[in-house]
Amino acid sequence: MSQKWIYAFSEGDGKNKKLLGGKGANLCEMTQIGLNVPPGFVITTEACLACLEDPERRLPDGVLDQVRLHMAAVEEKTGKTFGGRANPLLVSVRSGSAMSMPGMMDTILNLGLNQDTLQGLIAQTGNERFGYDAYRRFIQLFGKVALGVPDEEFDAEFDAVKADAGVKHDVGLSAAHLADIADRFLKVVERVTGKPFPADPYEQLTIAIKAVFNSWLGKRAVDYRREFKITSEMANGTAVNVVAMVFGNMGDDSATGVGFTRDPGTGENVMFGEYLVNAQGEDVVAGIRTPKPVAEMEREMPELYRQLVELRNRLEAHYREVQDYEYTIEKGVLYCLQTRNGKMNATALVRTSVEMVQEGLIDKRQGLLRIQPEMLEQLLFPRLDPKAGGKPVARGLPASPGAASGIAVFDADRAEKMGRAGEKVILVREETKPEDIHGFFASQGILTSRGGKTSHAAVVARGMGKPCVAGAEGIHVDVHTRQAVVGDQVFGEGAVITIDGTTGHVYVGEVAMIEADFSDELATLLSWADETAMLKVMANADTPRDAERALKFGAMGIGLCRTERMFNAVERLPIVVEMIVAETPADRQAALNKLLPIQREDFVGIFKVMSPRPVTVRLLDPPIHEFLPSENQLVEELDRLRHLRDTVLGMQVLHDAVDFMYRTRDTHPEVPLQADPALVDEAIQKKEAMLKKVRALFEVNPMLGHRGVRLGLTYPEIYSMQIRGILEAAAECQKAGIEVHPEIMVPQVCTAQELKKVKSWVEAIQADVEKTSGVTLSFKFGSMLEVVRACMRAENLAEEAEFFSFGTNDLTQATFSFSREDAENKFLPMYNQSHILQDNPFEVLDEKGVGRLMELAVNWGRVARPGMKIGICGEHGGHPQSIRFCHRVGLSYVSCSGPRVPIARLAAAQAALTATEAGGQAL
Ligand code: PEP
Ligand code: MG
Repeated sequence: MSQKWIYAFSEGDGKNKKLLGGKGANLCEMTQIGLNVPPGFVITTEACLACLEDPERRLPDGVLDQVRLHMAAVEEKTGKTFGGRANPLLVSVRSGSAMSMPGMMDTILNLGLNQDTLQGLIAQTGNERFGYDAYRRFIQLFGKVALGVPDEEFDAEFDAVKADAGVKHDVGLSAAHLADIADRFLKVVERVTGKPFPADPYEQLTIAIKAVFNSWLGKRAVDYRREFKITSEMANGTAVNVVAMVFGNMGDDSATGVGFTRDPGTGENVMFGEYLVNAQGEDVVAGIRTPKPVAEMEREMPELYRQLVELRNRLEAHYREVQDYEYTIEKGVLYCLQTRNGKMNATALVRTSVEMVQEGLIDKRQGLLRIQPEMLEQLLFPRLDPKAGGKPVARGLPASPGAASGIAVFDADRAEKMGRAGEKVILVREETKPEDIHGFFASQGILTSRGGKTSHAAVVARGMGKPCVAGAEGIHVDVHTRQAVVGDQVFGEGAVITIDGTTGHVYVGEVAMIEADFSDELATLLSWADETAMLKVMANADTPRDAERALKFGAMGIGLCRTERMFNAVERLPIVVEMIVAETPADRQAALNKLLPIQREDFVGIFKVMSPRPVTVRLLDPPIHEFLPSENQLVEELDRLRHLRDTVLGMQVLHDAVDFMYRTRDTHPEVPLQADPALVDEAIQKKEAMLKKVRALFEVNPMLGHRGVRLGLTYPEIYSMQIRGILEAAAECQKAGIEVHPEIMVPQVCTAQELKKVKSWVEAIQADVEKTSGVTLSFKFGSMLEVVRACMRAENLAEEAEFFSFGTNDLTQATFSFSREDAENKFLPMYNQSHILQDNPFEVLDEKGVGRLMELAVNWGRVARPGMKIGICGEHGGHPQSIRFCHRVGLSYVSCSGPRVPIARLAAAQAALTATEAGGQAL
């Protein structure tokens, strides 16, 4: 007895894709769950491999005998005869390996046709034209695929007949023309191959099976497998599916259609799809006739509609997933030809998850796992309408998702002015600085030509949930001429542009948008996610407004409030500058005294919004020169002021001087339009003092320079003011009956000594605030871990710190020695393309390096302080793959920008679900 090479659909194992191929296994599964699939069988991949091993590529012994046995069974089931004239059985022959490889091998339809069976087909369909059309298509396809006859040979004959008939398209050809074409095609085959076209159906079938097997080693298939990295472990050999043909064009009780078990656009649980009566599948594809919506079938063919609803219900009940299916109705009998999981947009995925759980079709676990967290982005930000089809003029880094259109404006002051006047603007800069913050508030989105994904523009925009394209280096931004040059295009201030922060594309002109849609279903799904996740999800937010928004996205607290951002508002910056340029501690204290009530008020605002959730406030981090203009800018402004003094003060008011005064009115309100020599002199003196300070503060390497706790220890009065602001705000809230849980966090720490020092100030200020307010304060004191040494000394640090938060932006920078400002625009893309690095480490947490440090620090920290609260607040905190890692190493929370909170919530739940599946293994 030879090996079993063939399985009928009624006996093959629907899970064994390696043996039966994906398509074959699916046909078996559908048959066995009782769906009406046209009868057929699968010739295994083992038969394919045995054939390809034979030097003469013969089919293995026993295959043809088994084919005949199975064909006999198909004949019995269909009541048709293979090669029979009266009621001919025709079959399709299709390839199908364990991995889907579309286009690897053409399907041969209507195999079994010859001059005799053709007459039977015409009699059955009553359609002579259809019969000859099917015949000529079969000869060409079989001739090409199985016999190697070039298409051009057929095309030449086809064109000749069309020319004779005087028609351009094949729809204009009559049955007689098509019969003529079939005749000519038969002659082509005979001429090219030297043999007549095989008329015997079994001969056709044998040749077709061998051709499909051989196609596994064809160039197309080999290239495809190489391209998509399909190894022989994943798929080895192709199966052959032989399926009885069914016809949707056998009269008005026949039809063909496609459907989704639910609406793939909205997720609504309704019949969805289209069909055509008395038609074959190709008619739908070719667009010759317009299909009807399936709802019409209920009226037109009520019984068949009922069967279709039943088919749909069975598909979902079995696959427990939305299905995309194809069917044909032949003489009142409904056949399911194919089904696969339906591809849906995020709206539909969320709705179907929630409804399928509520219907009991799937459980919450399945409902949570079937959506890729990143897809939720579609629901949280406006995006470009895919149908709009604009052509981008440039591409930068997709730095903050969502899309926006507006008028390009090249400085923050004007952006603010126009934004306040109700205009939609996009702030366009070479790069942004903290002093541009008011321009961010007023803009729809931000475009920069320099900087990476953790640049100022990117981080601030993400925090605000505004779209940002950063580092679009193809755009030359000239703020002086107020123009941007992209290749040979120029857009000036006032031009409408569109940016897509999800893709990094920049467009000139307005592109249509689709609005964000935070639905009730999404809220339900995310509440299930929260029940499941181990990680808490916090938000990075710096203002009460950001905090409110983060709360709407489901933030469970604030994991990072960057206090320096509070200094950037237009009315505050002059006080901050006053503090920086102060020559004496007393002058500095005077400026700080003005800042204290402002900061306190901010904290009260945030604490109130987030009550009773924790709020982690980070003390000042960046080098203070960031609050001052650049040296170049100051030198330029001084030149102009001096020029003004020397020339204009003769009372000739030059146009550019007025313009200059106009533009510097915010920084020098003391310079009026009618310039007064004394005031100009005073302005010059102030600028000179500032320039002196900027030069004194200059550092070659500011990111590794005088910042964070180093700065705090140099100017104790700054941190003291901030600590007081936090604790007084907490006391004020507590007195008002508002539950608050502040956490004071110190940045850039590298040794426990630094923490000890700051902690001593905290304790002194706490005692003072408690005494004056009469309130007992409850708060935590903790440290950022963003310096390599801090990770290595985590055990010591944990003696001082009650919590840690990994600042993976700086930690990545420090671990790789890659500048977080520049690397993404310089060598990183090349590193990624040449696979030196798999991912951008500023986006995807580098688990092997940075992650290793984190894991060590977590374990060491918890030796000193068991169960210590440890989180992450770098940008990686909102990245699903990195969140999975954070779960594995046992972090307590992740903190990310507000709009990424829903994505992080789902990712945290998935991390918990999949980690349990993997046996709850830590790394
Ligand atoms: C970090 O370094 O990861 C961090 C959160 O701080 P910042 O981005 O403000 O430097
Ligand atoms: Mg940092």
